Amino acid sequence: MTSPLFPVFADLRGRTVLVVGGGMVALRKAGALLEAGARVRVGAPELAPALAAWADEGRIEHLPGHFVEGWLDQAWLAIAATDDAAVNRRVAEAGEARRVWVNVVDDVEASSFHVPARVVRGPVQIAISSGGVPMLSRHLRETLETQLDESLGALAHLLSRERGRIRRRYRELAARRRFFDRVLSGPIPSLLRQGRNDEAQRAFATALDDHGPAASQTGSVALVGAGPGDPGLLTLRGLRVLNEADVILHDRLVSPQVLQLARRDAELIDVGKPLAGTVSPANHHSTQERIHALMLEHARAGKRVVRLKGGDPFVFGRGGEELEVLRDHDIAFEVVPGITAALACGAYAGIPLTHREHAQSLRLVTAHLKDANDGLDWRALAQEKQTLAVYMGVSGLDVLRDKLIEHGRAASTPFALIENGSRPEQRVVTGTLAELAERAQAHRVQSPALLIVGEVAALAARLHWFGDEPLTQLPTPAESYAVAA
Ligand code: SAH
Repeated sequence: MTSPLFPVFADLRGRTVLVVGGGMVALRKAGALLEAGARVRVGAPELAPALAAWADEGRIEHLPGHFVEGWLDQAWLAIAATDDAAVNRRVAEAGEARRVWVNVVDDVEASSFHVPARVVRGPVQIAISSGGVPMLSRHLRETLETQLDESLGALAHLLSRERGRIRRRYRELAARRRFFDRVLSGPIPSLLRQGRNDEAQRAFATALDDHGPAASQTGSVALVGAGPGDPGLLTLRGLRVLNEADVILHDRLVSPQVLQLARRDAELIDVGKPLAGTVSPANHHSTQERIHALMLEHARAGKRVVRLKGGDPFVFGRGGEELEVLRDHDIAFEVVPGITAALACGAYAGIPLTHREHAQSLRLVTAHLKDANDGLDWRALAQEKQTLAVYMGVSGLDVLRDKLIEHGRAASTPFALIENGSRPEQRVVTGTLAELAERAQAHRVQSPALLIVGEVAALAARLHWFGDEPLTQLPTPAESYAVAA
């Protein structure tokens, strides 16, 4: 085929469309046509039960028997959806003779129109044609599905509702275009994404009254969880927000594969590195201050800022503190959750975190707890039949082990230490609580690593599926040399 197809969005309301065939394909086609308001006529000797029900309810008209040309009377379009290629071709030929557009399902050659793959967001529809290669269209559709937020529908509704007012306010095309640019790059899309429809409506009214571009140029910050490293574990929302970002402030824990998903021209700022010098508490403090300052600076300059954090931003991520700062300075924000290390490491090591027989509860704790002699409920932490997921726990494992055993946890309780969970270089070290520190040291487990203590950890031996087998033994001297090298 040399000439491309000509795309059309047809208004089928009240218009007759013929579907030939009474099976599942015909059902699907009839459903889509009904949705578009067409008057649907289904011709077939017998109808699938759902189609028969529609006929009974009067939603479609049933033409019983085998195809005859007269079925095309009054039809604007026809779809041939029988499983008999000869019948389908006859429908196509009859249509051609009568100038009725015919689509033959799965037969590009015989069709005078194609039904495109579609991405639908409310009134917004993207139709895809790839010149008769449905598989390619389907692939493109999936890509677009991931990128377009559901709130696009609400945005289209709002703009179409306000069409008249926009035209009256901006009579000149150039001014109107500038207005649309301002609305689309301003806070309204993000407000709709947050389900704050009334505020979006108010922001629209303000934008409509505004002359200069300055007033609607407020930036915003999205606090986004990047997940544990495997880019496939980023959420669709996270991906979309990342795609829109002008500036991305990211931690060290965010994997390069996730960062690659950002827009090419976005400014990437690594805020994970401590400022020059050693990692003293004061230094850590200044790192956090710097993050706050950068968020404020870029948002005030009208940028869409993404604060990208490893795992989930609200789990040991200081997300709360950062939002407090934004709230204090009246900067709009939203939060996109991520898959936290405990969930990812459990999944990727084959360790169900709860289990009917082995664990009725799960606690997420940070190993920094070992530093504090502050009345932590060690008794509760040491209870059996629960799972502890310990973050930030590569050092001080000996103290943790001692405290747990001292408060009643059995020395034989299984543990699994997961290093680089969900990443290609993932390692899982397993053993019993008594051996915890020794094993971790022997295998030279490095950060980031997550410790799981509890009966469920033993399941890794049977349920592991990702990467290398769990390391259940102490390394041989040669292996420890290799790890160290
Ligand atoms: N907000 C993050 C946690 C930040 S604290 C989240 O929700 O996951 C940093 C700690 O998280 C690390 O010290 C480590 O214990 C854990 N962690 C993060 N990513 C990890 C990964 N890919 N594998 C193992 N542990 C990880």
